[in-house]
Amino acid sequence: MTLNPAGWIEGLRGSLDTQPLIFTHLGRGRVQALVGIDLEASGRRMLRLEANDRQGRAHLREWPIRVTPRRFAVQRLTLPQQMVELDPETAARVSAEAERLHTLWNTITSQRLWQGAFVSPVMSAAPPEGFGLRRVINDQPRSPHSGADYKAPEGSVVRASNAARVALAEEQFFGGNALVLDHGLSLYTIYFHLQEFLVKRGDTVHKGQEIGRVGATGRVTGPHLHFGVRLQGARIDPNALLRLPLR
Ligand SMILES: [Zn+2]
Repeated sequence: MTLNPAGWIEGLRGSLDTQPLIFTHLGRGRVQALVGIDLEASGRRMLRLEANDRQGRAHLREWPIRVTPRRFAVQRLTLPQQMVELDPETAARVSAEAERLHTLWNTITSQRLWQGAFVSPVMSAAPPEGFGLRRVINDQPRSPHSGADYKAPEGSVVRASNAARVALAEEQFFGGNALVLDHGLSLYTIYFHLQEFLVKRGDTVHKGQEIGRVGATGRVTGPHLHFGVRLQGARIDPNALLRLPLR
C-alpha cells in the first residue's frame, strides 16, 4: 500500500483492524506500509488512517476492506508412514520446533533491515511454485503448504532475499536444515531443507549473500528449496513479496 497524501500532514498513524501499520517514508511526502494477510484469511477488515493538520487537529479516515478467500489446488502426497504418524518423542520435538518458530513470528524487530526489492534466493531458477496447496498426505488432510518451492539441483547456492539478521539456523524434523532471516518490522523469510548452512544464528547478512546450499534434509520427496515469508505472523505468497515494488 502506498499513499500520496494530498496536502500537508503530520503524525500519520494507521491500523488494519488491531494491527498497527508501520510506515516507510519514500520522500516527496509519500509513505508505504506492508500489511500481511494470511493465506487462509477471509472476511472484512477496517483500514484506519489518522493524521494531524497544521492546526494540530486529528483527522481519521476509515476504509472497509473485504479479503476474498483465495482458492488453492489440492496436492496428494504419499510419504513413509514414520514421517507422518509421529512417535511421542518425535511429536514432542516437532512441537518444540514449531513453538520456536511461532515465538519468532511474534518477535518484532523495530528496525527495518531490508532495503529495496526482495530478490529470488535461487538465482537462475524458475519462480517458486506450490504456495497454499491444500495437502493431503497418505489420505489425511494436513496444513496447507505455507511456502513456495524452488526446483534446483542439490548444492545450488541459496542467497539472502534481502538484508537481515539470521534469527534461526537449526536442524528441524520437517524443515531439515532450516534458516530464518529477520528483515525487521516483523518480516521474515524462511529457507528449508538446506544441504548446509553458510551462516549462523546472529550473523548479519546483506542482500544476495550466500547463506546456504539447496539440499534434501527434513521431510522432502527430493532436493528443493522451500522458501517462505511471514509478515506480521501471516503466511504470505513469496512470489507476492518478490513482485513488490519496494524502495
Ligand atoms: Zn515447500
